[in-house]
Amino acid sequence: MVQIQTKISGTRNDNLIRDVLGDISNEYIFDSNSVFRSVKNPICNSCGTQMVHNGFNTYSKKNLGSIRIGKYKCPNCQSNQEESKYIWTDLLSKIKAFFASFALMCRDQNVSYEGIAEISKFLIPHGKDYFAELYADYLSKIEIPLMEIKGEMPILHYDEQHPKRGRSQKYRLTLLDGETKRPILEKLADSKDNETIKNFISGVYDENICPFMVTDLDRRYNGIFQEIFGQNFIHQKCLFHENKLVIGEFPKNCTIY
Ligand SMILES: [Zn+2]
Repeated sequence: MVQIQTKISGTRNDNLIRDVLGDISNEYIFDSNSVFRSVKNPICNSCGTQMVHNGFNTYSKKNLGSIRIGKYKCPNCQSNQEESKYIWTDLLSKIKAFFASFALMCRDQNVSYEGIAEISKFLIPHGKDYFAELYADYLSKIEIPLMEIKGEMPILHYDEQHPKRGRSQKYRLTLLDGETKRPILEKLADSKDNETIKNFISGVYDENICPFMVTDLDRRYNGIFQEIFGQNFIHQKCLFHENKLVIGEFPKNCTIY
């Protein structure tokens, strides 16, 4: 466990520092100037002389805090060296991982990104864009093994999402197994034009299957499926989207008499 020098040891900061740095080895010290450095001064990489203290660099993160990382100088060849910043970068990545699971849990409870940003004021405040990006990034790293197509008439759901990578618009094309709702094919594409969709769905073409394709109401799909499967497919528009059409139509013609 990291050592804390007597000047700040025993104060109320002591426990806090131990909470944050607790699992760091006792080869490191948080010294009386609140500088994080090795207990033993390092050996110069160039000439092998033991180095001496030479101040510190400060690293800060908005709304979180800052840390002082020790610097060394070689008394023989005047080379400079800095203590590893691992403790700081590791802390930042742990906090990021915490906020990623926090955002995931909030989204599971249907909390909006604005809502998550509001709640974060009780922890470390971040804006809604931070959480939206973190959430997308977190989800994109989860690997779900692709399913294999089962049976001669598999039910396949096809849809597109519109994630943004930086400022460029991307399209995530997904083919799901209707029964398990798990992906059979997935692709991040620069476009969702007919050719891209055709190439993507052709990946499951097999003359022995007659897929039952479920899509939203985009009029292009039927033609694309015909090009791939010929007449050997059934196209069903998603009931959710069809219901939305009915509900949209109903207020205009709301009498049944
Ligand atoms: Zn040296």
